[in-house]
This record gives sequence, C-alpha cells and structure tokens, in this order.
Amino acid sequence: MKKHARVVVIGGGIAGCSTLYHLTQEGWSDVVLVERNDLTSGTTWHSAAQVTNFGMNQTMVGLKTHSINLYKELANDPAHPINYNHADGGIRLANTEQQMQGYRHFASMARGMGVDFEVIDAKECKRRHPLISTDNLTGGLWDPLDGDIDPYQLCHSLTRRARKAGAEVYTDTPVTALEQYKDGTWKVITEHGDIDCDIIVNACGYRVNEVGAMMGVLHPVASMEHQYFLTEDIPEIVEAGHRMPLLRCPISDYYCRQDKNGLLIGFYEQNCKTWGMDGIDPNFVNALCPDDLERVADVLDGAFERMPALMNAGIRSIINGPITYTIDGAPLVGKIPGKENAFCIIGLRAGLGEGGGHGWLLAQQIVHGEACYDTWCIDPRRFTSHTNVEMTSLKAIEDYQNEFRFHFPHEHRPAARPAKTTSLTPVMAAKKGSFTVVNGWERVEYFKPSEDFQPSLSFHFDETFDIVAREVSNVRDNVGLCEVNGFNRFEITGSDSQSFIDRLFCGNITHKPGRVGLGYLLNDFGMVKSEATIANIPASDRGPNRMWYGSAAASEFHDMDWLSQHINPDENVKIKSLTNDQTTLIVAGPKAREVISACSREDWSKEAFPWLSVRECFIGFSAATVMSVSFSGELAYEVHVPNSSLYAAYLSLSKAGKEYGMTLFGSRAVESMRMEKGFLAWKSDLLTEFDPFETGLDRFVNLNKDNFIGKADLEKRFKHGPNQKLVCLSIDCNHAPAHAGASLMEDGKVIGTITSGEWGHRVNLNLAYAFVNPDKSKPGTKMILDLLGEMIPVEVILQGPYDSSYSRILT
Ligand SMILES: Cc1cc2nc3c(=O)[nH]c(=O)nc-3n(C[C@H](O)[C@H](O)[C@H](O)COP(=O)(O)OP(=O)(O)OC[C@H]3O[C@@H](n4cnc5c(N)ncnc54)[C@H](O)[C@@H]3O)c2cc1C
Repeated sequence: MKKHARVVVIGGGIAGCSTLYHLTQEGWSDVVLVERNDLTSGTTWHSAAQVTNFGMNQTMVGLKTHSINLYKELANDPAHPINYNHADGGIRLANTEQQMQGYRHFASMARGMGVDFEVIDAKECKRRHPLISTDNLTGGLWDPLDGDIDPYQLCHSLTRRARKAGAEVYTDTPVTALEQYKDGTWKVITEHGDIDCDIIVNACGYRVNEVGAMMGVLHPVASMEHQYFLTEDIPEIVEAGHRMPLLRCPISDYYCRQDKNGLLIGFYEQNCKTWGMDGIDPNFVNALCPDDLERVADVLDGAFERMPALMNAGIRSIINGPITYTIDGAPLVGKIPGKENAFCIIGLRAGLGEGGGHGWLLAQQIVHGEACYDTWCIDPRRFTSHTNVEMTSLKAIEDYQNEFRFHFPHEHRPAARPAKTTSLTPVMAAKKGSFTVVNGWERVEYFKPSEDFQPSLSFHFDETFDIVAREVSNVRDNVGLCEVNGFNRFEITGSDSQSFIDRLFCGNITHKPGRVGLGYLLNDFGMVKSEATIANIPASDRGPNRMWYGSAAASEFHDMDWLSQHINPDENVKIKSLTNDQTTLIVAGPKAREVISACSREDWSKEAFPWLSVRECFIGFSAATVMSVSFSGELAYEVHVPNSSLYAAYLSLSKAGKEYGMTLFGSRAVESMRMEKGFLAWKSDLLTEFDPFETGLDRFVNLNKDNFIGKADLEKRFKHGPNQKLVCLSIDCNHAPAHAGASLMEDGKVIGTITSGEWGHRVNLNLAYAFVNPDKSKPGTKMILDLLGEMIPVEVILQGPYDSSYSRILT
C-alpha cells in the first residue's frame, strides 16, 4: 500500500468510484480509494439504478447529463462494455394541472442545458407506455434519455479507468481513524497501514458519520429504509415488443422500470422508517434490511390501479436497503465546512443516476477550487449550525413521503420547524405572519388576512398578490417595519483587517469610520463568489474599531471558509461570527426618519447621517448599530440589535411608528422591491458562472487596484468581453412570474436564462433578471420567454426601473 497520496477517497460505492475516476480525468493520478469491504458493498450493489436526466435546477440537469454521456461512453467501451439501458425514456406522471405547470417550467429550464423534455397528455402517456391506465391521469413529463445501468459494472468500469490513469484502489481496507497534521494535511489510518495525504474525501454512504466522527464532524445525513420488488415475466411486456419506459408517480408514490421481461417497482410509502439512527452493525455488508411489504400496501394499490397487468405478476424478489437523505433532498458535495483539505460526497439519494455528475463536479472543486457550474445547490455549507442528524431524519421522512412531489414556488413544508426563531417569532405569528424558512430561520413572508388563509400551490401568481401589493404600498407611501433574522454578519478586527478586506474585494471599500460600502468577492477565476456590506464601526465603549461584514442569510459557513482560508500566516486578522447573536429590524419608507428620530436622541438628518452611514446608538434603551442602507429603494435604516434586546427595540420602533402609519411587511414585499430597484440576490442572480462585468457590477470593480483575488483572470476576461450579460426584463404577462431557470428564446434557440422574477408593485411591471447573449442586452431588445410552456414577449429594460435617480433613498 502507498504511504503517501495526494487524495485519499474513503468509500467504494458510486460516489467514491466516480470521484476517483474524475480526479484522474482532471489530471491528478496520485490518488487512492480505500474501501472497507468490496466495491459497491454499501448501498450501490442493490440500487434500482435508474438514470434520469430530470433535475430541479440547471446544475442538477447539467450534472445528470454528464452522468448519461459518461455512462454511454462506458457502455460502448469495446474492450469492457457494461449494461446500460440507455434512452428507454421515462414519464413523470401528473393528475393535476398544477403539476403539469411545474413540468412545463422544468422543460423550459432544462432546454437551457440542451435537454429536451416533452410535456405530454394522458393519451400520449398511454401510447408510450401501453401498460398504464389513463384513469385519474392528466399527463406527464417525458424524459427521452431515462434508463438504468448495472451498478456493479459501472463502479468497476470507473475504477478500471482510474487505475489505468495511475490511481490505486485498496479493498478490504477499513479506515479506522483520521488525524490532521499541523500543516493541514492528513493521516488516514487503516487496518492495513497508514497513508499520509493532502486531501481526504468522505464517500462513505450510510456510514458517513462513522467516518465523519473520525474528523470531529457530524454530517446532517440520515438513512431511510427503501424497498422495491422484481416481478416474474409479464406477458403484456413481451407482446409490446419494445422496452417499457420508466415511470415515476407522484400520485401514488412509486417508480417502475422494466427488468428482463418483468417490472421493478420501488415504493415511497407514507409509513416509512429511518435506519441506523443508533449505530450500524459493522457486519452489515452487502446486506439488506428485512422485507416488509405490509408497509407499502397503500402504495402498492396505486401501482396496481395504474398497471393492471401487475395483478397477475408473481414477485421474483424483494430488496429493502438503506438510502441516505439530507435536509433538502440534495446531496452534500464539496468542501466540509470548517475543515481544511476535507471534502465529502454524501447524502446521495439518487446516487446511481447522479453519481457520475457529482464526482465530476467534486473533482473539479478539489483540483481547481471551483466547478464549471455554480454548485451552491449541493454545497455542504448551505446548511449551518442548526442542522444535525435528528433534524435531518425528520426532513428525510418528509422528503421520502413526497419523493416525486416537487416543491412549488413558496411552498414551505412543515417538518423540523421551527428550528431557529427570535423573540419576535411569536409576536409576528400573533399578527398572522406567514413564515418561510431561510437557513433554518423562521422569517415572515407576508401577513395573512385571516388565520385560515392558505394560498394555493401554483406557478402562477396566487392569492398573496394583493397582500404583498398592500405591504409594498405602505412602505412606498408611509413607512414599514420588517424583521430580517439570520442575516450573516462577521466582526473583523486586527491591525491588518483593512488590507485583508482590500485584497478580498474587487473594488474600493471605504475605510472611513462611520461609513458603509457594498462590494464583491471574486474567486480565483475572477467570477462572482460573494456579495457583502462592509461597515466601519468607529471605536467606542462597545469595542475597538471594527469592520462589520454582512452578507446573505445562508452564507455564514461559505463566507467564513472563504475569508478564513485567505488570512495569510503573518496577518493579524480575527473574524468572529455574530450571525446568531443579532437580528435586524428594517425601517423603510419616506417617514422612516421620523420614526427613528422619535425613538432615538441622535441627529438623523440627511446632513448628520447621510445614506451609507453607520453609528452605534440606542433605539429606546436598546443598544443598536444603525446603518442607512436600503434594499427596498426607499429611505431606510437597518437597525441591528443583540437578540436579547430585539423585542425591546421592536416595541420602541412600533410605538414610534404608530403616529406615521407604520405597518409590518415581509420578505415577499422585500423581494418585489429589490427587483424594482435593480438589487441582485446572492445565488439567484450572483453566481460563480459569471464575472462581475457580465453581472453588470462594473462600478464595483477597480482593475487599477494593486491586487485582489481573481484580478489576473478578470483582466483577461475583461479583454475578451462578456459571454453573457445580466439584464432586467419586463414580461408581457400578468398571470405568472418568470421562474429561475426558464429559457429565453429566439428562432427556436435558447438565448438566455432567467435568474429571478417577481411582480414589481410600485412600477406595475412583471419583472425578471436574466443572463442573455451580449448582443441581446440593450434596452429595447425584444425576445420570447418560455413561461410555463407559453411563448411570452419580453423586453429588456433599464436595470432597476424604480426611482433610477435614487432620489427616494437620498432624500
Ligand atoms: C432500494 C434502493 C433503490 C435505489 N434506486 C436508485 C435508482 O433507481 N437510481 C439512483 O440513482 N439511485 C438509487 N438508489 C440510491 C443509490 O443507490 C445511492 O444513492 C448510491 O448507491 C449511494 O452510493 P454511495 O457511494 O454514496 O454509498 P455506498 O454505496 O453505500 O458506498 C459507500 C462505501 O463506503 C464504504 N465505507 C464505509 N465506511 C468505510 C470506512 N470506514 N472505510 C472504508 N470504506 C468505508 C462502504 O463499505 C461502501 O462501500 C437506490 C437506493 C436503494 C436503497
């Protein structure tokens, strides 16, 4: 066994094998995979191994396309072909018009990734899958490349190729401990000797937390038992004379694919079961859980009704095995938060189909620091300290029960809530706040007209439209108050903090005490990594000079990793997270100055406290840090208060606001207003796939600065010119917003992709942001949006159509 390797991948299921192979593809051959038993002896060997192209966003569709192309190539390897039933086709069924709307959106979104889904009616479903009945069926989504693969052959094919490129694979080699050296490299201790390495990868399937514990990490991953059975031959299949397409059914929660001349049917029963919560038998290897068909009886009935031919089919065998889940159903692929040189590819619940793509994106991240797609949707850092195995198991049950029922826009499922609250949560609930969840925080979306108000789940505008409009109009005409909890904030101190910040941001960041600035952090390739507000808080009895770094609610672990890893060894910089210690109250609207003046003795005049100022003061008797910044486009103040005095500050502001007609507003109103003002949202419009010039952030870049992270590559990109440009669009439609991922079309070709969309209530326009080909970015350019299958005219307009002179903020 080698004594040293650049990377040690732990685990030889599809996740580990794909990662190993792709590391060699990225040019790293000094890589090793260690497996405690045989390759595929965890979950992989008994997988139903369906390989779909369907995904909820473009990154997922793109990585699945990579899997499909790779698997096809492996299957066609003349020396070592493998069994891959490629392109049998698959149908996701629907029995409501709302589900069909969703499928139309997913088809529009996938087209931008070069994938052609088709939305078909019930009759066409039956034509393509003769075994099904059309009772209670509206139609479905056709995935032409759906298929299934032999998991054992797939993993061996990947490792064979990896070995050929120089990688080594050690089976029957359990990892028993992990130690990290002072320089951040690792010692991997196995039953057959130790391997020193630069980087480790946890790819341990359901044993993820046995290996996580070896490095002091508890990954938010839980396992569920999952069953399928295989039938004897079914005469109708033989008679059909062609392979049956795959089925996935959100009506009765099962999937089905052809196996030999019979069917394989898998179940997502409501009466489902977690697995391995209290430890896993070390001898559970190539093993299954006991069969329990009783548990799936309800689902079985649905499958029988849809495919009557099943009634007469004998069951050949039953498989019941553990399958891993995370908090949101997507896996954790990327850097392990807070750990140096440690990555993971875990929580895969559809790992056979996705594994090829996940290993590809992970290898890119390990070798280059970033992947070709924005990988936030699978980034392990998207969950922060509130997540744990207990919470994950509750979300896993909920997710399992809804396996094929995609989330609708603004759908917030109830399991494991509330996780993070403030002293205002019950206050807002009593005022009929309707809550969304942002990184575990319960945040008010809007205030309901009645306790039992329940908007319908839809891709169209829903019953909240007028409610949000009213909240916006009071912010525009009077003043509103909004609680923004979970906002990420770090305090940066130390004698080198300013030069440190200068090096991280691509533009000029104000150093003046009492001033606030907005800036952008780029990755090494000059692409947009993060957006942050920097406030220079002068020294006071509350502390020394402090730089206050504020960024998006879910960015805490992501940004902390990025900042910490860029502190040079000789730099005096300290970063402390205040994310869970403070909450923000926003007072916004033309009467905001009157409200804040009524509960604080400071001079709040425009001259004494102009836009982009920060000061420490008291709101009532609560110590607060107040900034004059605005996301809404109105005169506004952000009041940051310690959580212990949040309620007191809220009472002071509420009392002061009464006289000025102040009402509460929620995050849906904020979203509408930020779109109107042209402010962008992290991980919607701000993505690592685009540089700041493409994103329209030119005024935040200073290429004359001495140096900043990403400068060299950004200069090259600047000379080359943009590949895409972010634009603001007005959509000629008043029944549905544009949804992220939807395709902009011209002459049948995709020429752009929506990043976010919402109605602008003050400008009375259906607004969206999108990346388009640069020649389509001029205001006045017209194109077509595939909006839920309808071809809708749209026009490029000036970014931020509301108050473009900023007169309302600067007042
Ligand atoms: C019944 C069922 C049907 C499924 N059907 C599908 C499907 O149709 N399509 C699909 O895409 N997905 C499907 N899945 C899910 C898919 O099979 C999994 O997502 C995938 O196999 C997970 O692969 P993995 O590599 O993450 O984990 P595993 O296959 O479990 O591999 C982890 C490996 O790590 C090794 N390991 C653990 N601890 C150590 C240690 N200390 N030292 C060294 N090695 C260690 C284990 O021995 C194991 O080999 C199904 C799952 C089940 C249960």
